[in-house]
Amino acid sequence: MSVMVPSRTPALITPGQQALDSALHQLGQAAEELGLDDGLRTMLATPRRSLTVSVPVRREDGSLDVVQGFRVQHNVSRGPAKGGIRFHPSTDIHEVTALAMWMTWKCALVGIPYGGAKGGVSVDPTVLSTRELERLTRRYVNEILPLIGPEKDIPAPDVGTDEQTMAWIMDTYSVNAGYSVPGVVTGKPMTLGGSLGRTGATSRGVQIATLTALGRSPEGVTVAVQGFGKVGALAAQYLADAGARVVAVSDVSGAVHNSSGLDVADLRAWVTETGSVAGYRHADALAHDELLELDVDVLVPAALEGAITASNAPHVRARLIVEGANGPTTPEADEILAAQGTTIVPDILANAGGVIVSYLEWVQNMQAYSWSASEVEVRLRDLMEGAFSEVKSVAAARGLTLRQAAHVIGVGRVAEAHQMRGLYP
Ligand code: GLU
Repeated sequence: MSVMVPSRTPALITPGQQALDSALHQLGQAAEELGLDDGLRTMLATPRRSLTVSVPVRREDGSLDVVQGFRVQHNVSRGPAKGGIRFHPSTDIHEVTALAMWMTWKCALVGIPYGGAKGGVSVDPTVLSTRELERLTRRYVNEILPLIGPEKDIPAPDVGTDEQTMAWIMDTYSVNAGYSVPGVVTGKPMTLGGSLGRTGATSRGVQIATLTALGRSPEGVTVAVQGFGKVGALAAQYLADAGARVVAVSDVSGAVHNSSGLDVADLRAWVTETGSVAGYRHADALAHDELLELDVDVLVPAALEGAITASNAPHVRARLIVEGANGPTTPEADEILAAQGTTIVPDILANAGGVIVSYLEWVQNMQAYSWSASEVEVRLRDLMEGAFSEVKSVAAARGLTLRQAAHVIGVGRVAEAHQMRGLYP
């Protein structure tokens, strides 16, 4: 008996279900290209472990809220599970499953010895006080404690979580263990065993991917960045530092545009002061949707899944899309863009800088030794450029898009690990 990878259904409900649908579609295509049998396809389509927990949180006014939390380990064939933890109101089990699956292919693609995982809590962290966030984080970690550990499953930051969240996770785990375990989580503050270069790692990877894809001087190349959070703001900065002209950026509250180029450092200072790009003095306001359709050379979606869809893809004028976010382009949009001749550097390659430096942080933790910023930088660059050139040659050899090629490599490596290990019992 074999269960097939579920076919794509038109009547979708949540953004999470859409994300999972996209992930399964991409897996299906790669499995087809690789000629995997139905049993293996089903294994790869199904998470290894999936835990849903209730997280009670005592609010400042004394009342009690109960939110849902998740940790999904999609695959652990190549090593411990690895992936971030997301705090976002629309997070659900489907989204976390899709994100965990993408982590599996991402780690395999860039050649780091991890499987894929993701965690999430369905909560809006912006409405919680710092103490509420700490209680929420510690209780959530306590609920997923049986799954995580430096040799089992290693969380990291994602949307809505940061260094402080990682510090609380490290402390909660360590207090339970009875000794300090820095390697249980990555993206930690430097004082707790964090790595130099981790904070900007995803954005640095986006910069490396963009420059590699351009294959020419970035001087004067125009860029629009959707999302001005941990990934987008520094990606904009690093691209501007390299000589590109960042003409538009957006965040949840607004979008701004300046055709002569934004002063990204000044804009970041404005965001630190006011909380949003909206109202920035040296730019014009722009409607959210307009940003994706600007006539720019490079578009960097660095927010959430499903930003580029069948409805806006025909209006996307950028020649190059570099996916800072996970899953920003739906499969329908992918097809439209491919037909338009748009090059997409896919998420599992473009944003892999984060998990690469997470891996380097974990290696340093396991050795109880820290490296210089340049050692981290050299290894990040080598892994990013190596993966990019493999993706390019597989795409050329098999006549695939960069996304299809990246999935063929990632899925292929995991499938090979499965086959080599065999089935127990
Ligand atoms: N959340 C990041 C990602 O989606 C980083 C994960 C990690 O470092 O484990 O790749």
